[in-house]
Amino acid sequence: MEQFHNFQDQLRKFARLAIKTGVNLQEGQGLYLVAPIESVQFANLVTEEAYKAGAKDVLPDWTDDTTALLRFQHAPLEALENIPSWKFYARNELVKDNYTVLNIYGPDPDLLENVDGSRVAAFMKTYVQGITVYREYMMKHKIQWSIVAYPTIAWSKKVFPDKPVDEAQNLLMKEILRISRVSGNDDPVAEWEEHNKKLHIATDFLNKQKFRKLIYKAKGTDLTIDLPEGHIWWGGSEPDDSGIQFNPNIPTEEVFTLPHKNGVNGTVSSTKPYNFNGQIIDHFSLTFKDGEVVDFKAEKGHEALKHLLESDEGARHLGEVALVPHRSPVSESGLVFYNTLFDENASCHLALGKAYPTCIRGGNNMNEEQLEQAGVNNSIVHEDFMVGSAELDIDGVKEDGTKVAVFRKGAWAFSFE
Ligand code: ZN
Ligand code: ZN
Repeated sequence: MEQFHNFQDQLRKFARLAIKTGVNLQEGQGLYLVAPIESVQFANLVTEEAYKAGAKDVLPDWTDDTTALLRFQHAPLEALENIPSWKFYARNELVKDNYTVLNIYGPDPDLLENVDGSRVAAFMKTYVQGITVYREYMMKHKIQWSIVAYPTIAWSKKVFPDKPVDEAQNLLMKEILRISRVSGNDDPVAEWEEHNKKLHIATDFLNKQKFRKLIYKAKGTDLTIDLPEGHIWWGGSEPDDSGIQFNPNIPTEEVFTLPHKNGVNGTVSSTKPYNFNGQIIDHFSLTFKDGEVVDFKAEKGHEALKHLLESDEGARHLGEVALVPHRSPVSESGLVFYNTLFDENASCHLALGKAYPTCIRGGNNMNEEQLEQAGVNNSIVHEDFMVGSAELDIDGVKEDGTKVAVFRKGAWAFSFE
C-alpha cells in the first residue's frame, strides 16, 4: 500500500484484529470477504490472516462505487426491479456452508446524490428480498460476521474536503486505526478483550434493571420508548449460535436492545447527518404514535427520508435502541464521518426497520408471527440514525414505576467501576 507506507505494521495488526476479534474465524471455516477494489492490498492482508487462522477458503467479492453508480444511472428500471435469482444463490448458500462474512467498508457518502431515489429504492428492495437467507443468518447470529472500515478516496475527500487526496486518505486511515483501537496498542486483540469486558458490564447493569420504558429528553426530542418483556441488551462481542464470540462492528461503543414496535410515542430530532443508500438526510425529526411514524420533517433529504419510510410497513417502526456516551473516541475526533459505522458510535441512536431477534429472549427460535406478537419489528431495511448530544437525558422506568437516571447530559448516569 504505497500511500499508507507509514501504517504498514498497524495495517497488519488491523487485518489480524478483523479476523481474530471481528469474525473470530475458527479453523476450517470459510471467509466471504466483501471489499472495495481500492482496498485490495489491505484485503490481501486480511486474506493472509484468515488462512493463518485456519480458513478453508477466502472468497472475495470485489465492489466498486462507480460501477454501482453506472447501474443506477443507466440500467433499465425493469432490470433494477427484477434481479434474477441466480445472483443471490452464492450468498444464500455460503452462510449455510460455514462461511463467516467480513465487510471492508468505505462507501462514497455522496455517490447517489443525483440519482433518482425511487430507482435506488426499487433495486434495494428486490436485492434485500433476494438475500433473505443470508440476512437471516446474520441477523440471527447463525454465523459470525463483522464490518471494518477502509479510507477509500471518495470517502476520505468527503471527511477532509480541504486536503489533497493522499493527505486526506492518510488522515482518515489514522482516525480509523485510532478509533478501532489499533494504533497505540501492541496487541489490539488483547485491548479489545478489555473493551468488550467494559461493554459487558454496562449490558449486565441494564439487563438487571428490566426497564419497561425509556424516556428521552433533549432539544427537539421528547420520546417514550417501551421495551418489550424479555428484551436483552447487547454490547461488544456477542455469541453466535454455537457460542463463538464475535464483534459485528469494529469500531463499536454502543450497547443496544430493541423497542416494542408498537410502543414508541413522541418526537425525536436527529443530531447528525445520516446517509441512506448514498443520499444524505440531515436536520430531520420523526413523530411517533403507537410505534408508527405519523409525521416527519427534514431540512435536507426530505425525498430520501420519504422513500425510506415507504420501503415497507416496518420501515415506519423502530427496530433498535442504542446508547453511546457523547464523549467517545469517535466524537473526540470532532469529525462527521458520513458513515454510519463511525457516526453511530459517537452518538445514541435509533434504527428504523428490522430488529435483531437476538435482542429478545428466545427470539432466535421464534417464527415471524411469534416475533410480531413479542413486539419485534420486521422490515427489509435497518437504518441507524443519530439522536445523541451533550444535552440528552434518558430515564429508565422500572416495572414498579421507579425512575432510574440512565443518561445525563449525554453521559452514563452511573459508574461501571
Ligand atoms: Zn447500533
Ligand atoms: Zn443498527
